[in-house]
Amino acid sequence: MPGTEHNTPRSTDVLLVGAGVMSATLGTLLQLLDPSLNITIVESLSAVAEESSDAWNNAGTGHAALCELNYTPELKNGSIEITRAVKINEQFQQSRQFWATLVERGLLTNPRSFINAIPHMSFVQGAEAVDYLRRRHAALATSPLFSAMEFSTDAAKLREWIPLMMRDRDATQPVAATRFADGTDLDFGALTRSLIASMQQQGSSLLLLHRVTGLTRLPDTRWYVEVQDLTTKKTSKITARFVFLGAGGGALPLLQKSGIPEGRGYGGFPVSGQWLRCTNRAVIEQHAAKVYGKPALGAPPMSVPHLDTRVIAGQRELLFGPFAGFSTKFLKRGSFCDLPGSIGSENLVPMLAAGAQNFSLTRYLVGQVIQSQADRIAALSDFIPSVRGEDWKLEIAGQRVQIIKSDKDKLGKLEFGTEIIRSADGSLAALLGASPGASTAVSIMLELVTRGISIGTASAEALRSLVPSFDLSLDKDAALYERMTERTRTLLQLK
Ligand SMILES: Cc1cc2nc3c(=O)[nH]c(=O)nc-3n(C[C@H](O)[C@H](O)[C@H](O)COP(=O)(O)OP(=O)(O)OC[C@H]3O[C@@H](n4cnc5c(N)ncnc54)[C@H](O)[C@@H]3O)c2cc1C
Repeated sequence: MPGTEHNTPRSTDVLLVGAGVMSATLGTLLQLLDPSLNITIVESLSAVAEESSDAWNNAGTGHAALCELNYTPELKNGSIEITRAVKINEQFQQSRQFWATLVERGLLTNPRSFINAIPHMSFVQGAEAVDYLRRRHAALATSPLFSAMEFSTDAAKLREWIPLMMRDRDATQPVAATRFADGTDLDFGALTRSLIASMQQQGSSLLLLHRVTGLTRLPDTRWYVEVQDLTTKKTSKITARFVFLGAGGGALPLLQKSGIPEGRGYGGFPVSGQWLRCTNRAVIEQHAAKVYGKPALGAPPMSVPHLDTRVIAGQRELLFGPFAGFSTKFLKRGSFCDLPGSIGSENLVPMLAAGAQNFSLTRYLVGQVIQSQADRIAALSDFIPSVRGEDWKLEIAGQRVQIIKSDKDKLGKLEFGTEIIRSADGSLAALLGASPGASTAVSIMLELVTRGISIGTASAEALRSLVPSFDLSLDKDAALYERMTERTRTLLQLK
């Protein structure tokens, strides 16, 4: 890889811990805002994007709330709440705009290597669910962000959209689907590798096989970061003006080591994932959509079953899942001591309180863990009635560490979102949580730099030159949404 360092530098302006999509996004943004910054990325594995950001470790859905039913809950009065869906969609539009700007400036050269147009669909069965989907479609249609969404209960139309899913299906069962043609599949691994290669070409340093083992605040606002070379086992120290803990599941232990008061009371609950991966190319070629269904009772939002067309290394693939599992590791290649090692006097109460409040999740996870391959194929047969078990094999996906935090009323609560914890002086920030994840990396990093970090602030004008709708609402401005969609579609070759 160009510019990969072998010698640990003594000091740097920005130290990014972890070479996943989050560090890559923040590093690229900072370098564009101030090309004079000295940026160092420290990664414990031997290559970039080998953990959650790797294409086979996540679902690669460009989450824009086009197909995920958990973003549009039904309220007690029967109405459909779309606020969250609008927010996620706007966040994803910011990612699209940022990537398009990078293509325009020649910093990303081959958009098809990481983003591809794949329709996003929701699919439901049974009269009640069909009624919900119809009302969800009507509620979303009021926003320009979703006005291109189609709804159908017509078997002939559904056969056209999802022939594999309609073959051998019981015709007496009511079914419905929505379809948004302009959905996307992302290879976040390929994106991360391209972003980091581009950062290196602009002068950033990448230290592979180096682990951050500790960090101490200096009397000024700088940090003294301990880095171990995993080849020589030697430890050195790097002084950094700003540290970003983009270590995925490894961020929580490092946040705890930093000792910043803002990080007190946080804990993590790991949920592992598994997929069924289709091995029969003839089957893979019969499906071209990301189809999300209804979650099972007690299932966490990120465990909604989906049948996913993927484009990985230029080839179409098909995944079904995820099936949740439980492991005490915080990273797929982490240690079984990660969870017990993260529990201490500061977060014990929130952890216990969150555990006591989430019995349905525990029951769901136990059910998932004891599933057999036949159970998984039976779950898949809801999506593909003609499924043949021998066409599918089980693969391990990435780990997600859900956030547990202290809460005034409930003592502790479990959260399924993503959160940036930032020290008051802006010299350190950590990213916890994993949903909606990589799709919203750009908006998360825009929020971080606007809140202020110790290496300087960015003007709204500078941010708008990278992400034109950075401080504007596309939901409230249909013409701007149309313009932005056209621009990103063209630059990202999504037509
Ligand atoms: C099953 C599953 C499905 C998902 N589906 C989607 C989806 O469809 N769409 C979506 O947008 N998002 C999805 N996500 C979420 C998405 O994958 C993550 O939000 C994203 O990849 C996180 O990126 P990251 O850079 O924070 O972490 P990672 O990619 O995990 O990178 C962190 C890096 O830090 C390194 N590291 C850790 N500790 C240290 C240390 N002490 N020193 C040095 N290096 C360290 C690790 O080795 C790793 O390379 C999914 C996640 C999972 C697990």
